[in-house]
Amino acid sequence: MVERQLRDRDILDERVLAAMARVPRHEFVPQEFWAQAYEDHPIPIEENQTISQPYIVAFMLQALSITPSDVVLEIGTGSGYSTAILAELCNKVYSIERHSVLAKAAEAKLTSLAYKNVEITLGDGTEGMRECAPFDCILVSAAAPRIPTILVDQLSEGGRMVIPVGPATVQELQFVRKQNGQSTAVRLENCRFVPLIGAGGYSSGW
Ligand code: SAH
Repeated sequence: MVERQLRDRDILDERVLAAMARVPRHEFVPQEFWAQAYEDHPIPIEENQTISQPYIVAFMLQALSITPSDVVLEIGTGSGYSTAILAELCNKVYSIERHSVLAKAAEAKLTSLAYKNVEITLGDGTEGMRECAPFDCILVSAAAPRIPTILVDQLSEGGRMVIPVGPATVQELQFVRKQNGQSTAVRLENCRFVPLIGAGGYSSGW
């Protein structure tokens, strides 16, 4: 997976590649999909959600340029797979998930794999987590109708956010950077995510 799907494309960040090599992806997919766990596509998990394709996870993490001292907010814990990789890369991960079944399963899995620098919260991630802000990085793993201002407000000076924006049919991954109190967004590439549902997201599914 790491050599063919990541390094042979444009994932060159050695810390991201090493973290992706360390985290056992099969642990985060339902048992009936174990044979496909390291293949180049998303996989269904509970609550009609998906664990993202390895390449897109690596692409988003590479774009964030995470350093070991960073504090990161993740929105959309899902299986906890990208949470585990974040935990390998940074100092502390706060991850928010709106489905309690997923939040509980991810928390149990991350505990069993001995990740200690992760905190999972049940709730609407479009509100961010004001009590723990500011964040050096924010990773949003579900598609929003627009970039939520509340999340930009919770970025530190020099902070970075990656977020898919757009409806089911056409989404773009956007990279936001806050500098001198101002945020700028650039488009990275097209993508396909499940909807971000909440106050700053879509009001229901697609
Ligand atoms: N990073 C995850 C991908 C999960 S898919 C993984 O590696 O498995 C996106 C997740 O975002 C879903 O679990 C969905 O329930 C969650 N989600 C959607 N809207 C949300 C919101 N407003 N707050 C928190 N989680 C949300």
